[in-house]
Amino acid sequence: MLSSEETTHAIEVMGEMFPNATTSLTKTDPYHFMLSVILSAQTTDKAVNLITPALFERYKDPVDLANASQAEVESYIKTIGLYRNKARFLIKCSQELVERFDGVVPKTRKELMSLSGVGRKTADVVLAECFGIPAFAVDTHVSRVAKRLGMVPADSDVLTIEKILMQKVPQDLWIKGHHRMIFWGRYQCMARNPKCSSCPLLDICPEGRSRV
Ligand code: SF4
Repeated sequence: MLSSEETTHAIEVMGEMFPNATTSLTKTDPYHFMLSVILSAQTTDKAVNLITPALFERYKDPVDLANASQAEVESYIKTIGLYRNKARFLIKCSQELVERFDGVVPKTRKELMSLSGVGRKTADVVLAECFGIPAFAVDTHVSRVAKRLGMVPADSDVLTIEKILMQKVPQDLWIKGHHRMIFWGRYQCMARNPKCSSCPLLDICPEGRSRV
């Protein structure tokens, strides 16, 4: 297993390769950004960015969406996967936001996770991106990269990965680390064909050494 120092070093190296790593979702106000993150489950950020301008123009605030019809919301988002469930989540989440939070996106993980469609990863992303509150959201790229590099045990679940990374990496690197590991997973350490032979982390990567 990589030590705290090695894990932090690896994330610094990722930052050298991807100094501008940040969210690929279009940044908006916290409410609309939270909806974008809900919509991004199991689809690409690019696909989400294509549908959100018209959706957010039609539904400008939580009250608009709380009173929307399922069929109309679906018509705006039907190009992305799971659109029926997602339309339901958007409406329900907006209703809950109006009923319990006066239409204002809350700033704690617990409150965020009490909203329909908002899991831990979505809550972490909203905390980090909208409010600058340190969080280490774990998606499929973060999970794969952390396991391949031996930052975490190979059988770790998402919550365990998040806890270990938060323990090993200084807090001021959590948000950047999340972005860097996503970029690393997208462009360097891809699921099928990672670029191990040219990887600057090969020396400390057990998976890479077994591949080259
Ligand atoms: Fe990924 Fe290969 Fe680099 Fe390891 S050596 S981090 S598996 S690309």
